Amino acid sequence: MSSRSLSGHASAADAGYRGRFAPSPTGDLHAGSLLAAFASWLLARQAGGAWLVRIEDLDPPREVPGAADRQLQALAGFGLLSDEAVVRQSRRHALYEAALTDLLDRGLAFACHCSRSDLAATGGIHRRCVSARAGGAPQPAIRLRVADGATVDFDDALLGKQSQDVAATVGDFVLRRADGYWAYQLAVVVDDADQAITDVVRGADLLDSTARQILLQRALGLATPRYAHLPLLVDAQGRKLSKSDAAHPLDPSDPLPALRAVWRALGQDEQALIAVETVTQLLDTARVSFSPAQIPQAAAGLAAMHNDHRTNAV
Ligand code: GLU
Repeated sequence: MSSRSLSGHASAADAGYRGRFAPSPTGDLHAGSLLAAFASWLLARQAGGAWLVRIEDLDPPREVPGAADRQLQALAGFGLLSDEAVVRQSRRHALYEAALTDLLDRGLAFACHCSRSDLAATGGIHRRCVSARAGGAPQPAIRLRVADGATVDFDDALLGKQSQDVAATVGDFVLRRADGYWAYQLAVVVDDADQAITDVVRGADLLDSTARQILLQRALGLATPRYAHLPLLVDAQGRKLSKSDAAHPLDPSDPLPALRAVWRALGQDEQALIAVETVTQLLDTARVSFSPAQIPQAAAGLAAMHNDHRTNAV
């Protein structure tokens, strides 16, 4: 806990602060994504900065038709509106192509025909090409070359010091998949830089991607933002809530219970929001009462969202 660097003071205004919420449209907004959206919004607002929404729609096989629009409508129902035009990754192929070409031209990325089964012996970790296939079809994946011993250290604002030996634990990682789709790691790094994001606030399920993203930023000569990884929401049995979890649907037409529930899951004082009657009042009160130092590091339980705010199951 000692190395936490979230200030928790509204006076720590940083007009240059730019945060974002970046959902993938693989389902409707769920409580876990509302927690990330609300926390990233609160931190941006306390810093006096901007908060942006970016739709990460680069994986059509996993996407649900209409989900992006429903996510945006739901966010609007919760009063969480992007300060700038919503960006959709599916319209930004040229940016990813330019970054990939740059890496290929400088010998930092390479074409790879290794299949999953080719890499089974090394647990999926790629250190050198072992496929007998070369050239021609099927289309190769493009990977970032990760030097032996490439270890990334970073300071997570919530979780403290982190260190990952990317070469040993991940290996050369994919930037463009063999099926032609862009890998999340490349797109997120290009977009965070293009949108001048200074603070990435997201769920702890993405902590493991951060070292890869920092390596990629270095390879592309891009600035590294600050990172804060939020506790994951778990159900009463301690299982992670996922997008497909129908047990916790959000009702944006009745936004106060869900906002109060994620507020509590963020370790915040529920009394602070007890008297609010509208979303606007809730957000105005929350932005001044929010205390980042109270955010728990461990997984957070979710109290019932559909009852009155007196319910406090965790
Ligand atoms: N699109 C990712 C997701 O929905 C989040 C990416 C990020 O916040 O870096 O899980």
